[in-house]
Amino acid sequence: MPSLRLANLIDGRLQAPRQDRWLDVFEPATGKVFAHCPDSDADDVAAAVAAAQRAASAWAATSTEQRAHLLHRLADLIEARVDEFAALESRDSGKLLSLARSLDIPRAVSNLRYFAAAVVPWSSESHAMELGAINYTLRQPLGVVGCISPWNLPLYLFTWKIAPALAAGNAVVAKPSEITPCTAALLGELSIEAGFPAGVLNIVQGHGPIVGQAIVEHPGIKAVSFTGSTRTGAQIATAAAPHFKKLSLELGGKNPAIVFADTELSEANLDTIVRSGFANQGEICLCGSRLLVQRAIYDSFRERYLARVRALRVGDPLDTSSDLGALVSQPHFDKVMACIAQARDEGGQVLCGGKAITLPGAHAGGWYVAPTVIEGLAPDAVTNQQEIFGPVVSLIPFEDEAEALAIANGTGYGLAASLWTTNLARAHRFGAQLDFGIVWINCWLLRDLRTPFGGTKQSGLGREGGVEALRFFTEPKNICIRY
Ligand code: NAD
Repeated sequence: MPSLRLANLIDGRLQAPRQDRWLDVFEPATGKVFAHCPDSDADDVAAAVAAAQRAASAWAATSTEQRAHLLHRLADLIEARVDEFAALESRDSGKLLSLARSLDIPRAVSNLRYFAAAVVPWSSESHAMELGAINYTLRQPLGVVGCISPWNLPLYLFTWKIAPALAAGNAVVAKPSEITPCTAALLGELSIEAGFPAGVLNIVQGHGPIVGQAIVEHPGIKAVSFTGSTRTGAQIATAAAPHFKKLSLELGGKNPAIVFADTELSEANLDTIVRSGFANQGEICLCGSRLLVQRAIYDSFRERYLARVRALRVGDPLDTSSDLGALVSQPHFDKVMACIAQARDEGGQVLCGGKAITLPGAHAGGWYVAPTVIEGLAPDAVTNQQEIFGPVVSLIPFEDEAEALAIANGTGYGLAASLWTTNLARAHRFGAQLDFGIVWINCWLLRDLRTPFGGTKQSGLGREGGVEALRFFTEPKNICIRY
């Protein structure tokens, strides 16, 4: 099969990068190149920003109903080709086709539809003053904004950013991950068909430190919404500081799942706890990589948990009987394997997994890692502190609430925690004390697009989702009239 050649979307046209340089895009399931993506540079970004600046005023003046209509049209076009999108996402990222089909692509459609619907009734506040004046707050689009997204949920997170940015009336310069550029490129093509005016949505593909950095540093870009690693988030914050740019940073995590002895350990709950560690090969920022279990049930829980993890099948992402697909890239595979070696070095016992898996035939070159469970490491061990972002879970026993809280809160991250208990008072009390942006009680990954999403500490800055995202992508201006 000839390899795919992706394009940038600039000024309403699909374009090759100005320097005609291209990056290899690998299929994680086989380790082979299957596409080429533009290796763009700062000149491509400048052209995209110029196009966005030309389009911004007219787009801001377009009615919210018309903006919503175009977002719905784009959602319709993606929905009509959902199987093609899902296959492309799976091929590009190594994730299970079934997951791309049931989660990633439907959620991308929902992102577009949700913000299309949310922006129409969104109204500004007004405040009457007793002395005879009225304040009202205009929420004006920022102009041109940057959206930078990662590889783990490619179209899901790409649309999570561009949908509210466009709905709120901004022109966008967006950059998907160079590791998984395909579905955003296809979305770009469909945006032309949907009828978006030229320059309203621009997509510049390429290396993060070149294209991403150019987006962050371009003076014409007023705000940047970024999802990715904490390290890159810090670089972006540094680069954006001299320009006083508005930033939304959704970064890494080291999330705990905390299981109290009173938890109802039904088969369904156990399945959810297992899924919370290993869904998408552990490559979801919300996956729980520290599994805290109350000592009173530790041994029995461990036995049931391990039996389930051992039964997980690593395989071809297209095969419906696979539970885990391939890791996204050779460097990421190497990093995860190095983390497992480090866990052993610091005294952890590998209870299952702990090794790479070589599949037969065409998949022999793919990047597969067995689901891995480790125990015996102190809460402050490197393994329990650093984000691994792979199929690796560390079991940690605890005695009581106080100890569980200290361990759970005892990392530099604060993205998400899941808490398992049937004690209602504990659920509320403990949930309120967890220093995380998101707390799930007796569930995991239930997402309501109306709710604020983001992390504390090194997991980020600001919140996206619902009205928070519309607020981020607009400037509030208060107007006070005396009467
Ligand atoms: P990454 O930081 O390497 O890259 C993310 C994006 O930033 C990519 O598009 C990349 O090209 C770009 N980039 C890289 N260097 C840049 C720079 N100097 N300036 C501007 N842009 C740059 O992250 P990744 O490896 O793609 O993604 C995995 C990370 O993302 C994990 O840490 C994970 O926890 C995090 N993540 C967080 C959330 C969340 O909602 N908090 C969601 C998904 C993933």
